[in-house]
Amino acid sequence: MRVVFLGPPGAGKGTQSKQLLAYLGVPHLSTGEMLRQEIRDQTSIGLESREQIAAGRLVADPTIMKIVSSRLNQPDCARGVLFDGIPRTLGQAKALDELLASRGQPLDGVLELKVDEDELVRRRASRGRADDRPEVVRERLEQYRRLTEPLIDYYGRQG
Ligand code: ADP
Repeated sequence: MRVVFLGPPGAGKGTQSKQLLAYLGVPHLSTGEMLRQEIRDQTSIGLESREQIAAGRLVADPTIMKIVSSRLNQPDCARGVLFDGIPRTLGQAKALDELLASRGQPLDGVLELKVDEDELVRRRASRGRADDRPEVVRERLEQYRRLTEPLIDYYGRQG
């Protein structure tokens, strides 16, 4: 079972993911978590991405697709995967479709988590992550609206 989980920053995708993962019995592929690990490990991808993340801007599509495709090569992903935080752009959605088609493992579904705007602000303030400063949060929400929200139509058209 391969499922994409869409939702704005601070919507609680992390928390909901845990329940979904237990239910689906597949590994969690969170590009945000993977990028934070790359930063902790001081890899070239980590060094490349840290400024973008700190500013609340998206990391370049090719970088994201590199970490996603290498993660999918690990054997535990054969039984399925929950994509959390990817795709974030139309380019990533198309690249992911192509990657999965080439592996003969297309997506089975897309879930959208909707949360009331005031609730989003309240939740983000309580997380305490470095990119949860108000001005960075505004930028991340803006990136979500402009670049990620159109994916709801993209997947809607695919049925
Ligand atoms: P949230 O869902 O709360 O926005 P994430 O942990 O998914 O947080 O992502 C944190 C940051 O990592 C994002 O603001 C962005 O800079 C970067 N990032 C994560 N996933 C992607 C992606 N698929 N494409 C581009 N940037 C990403």
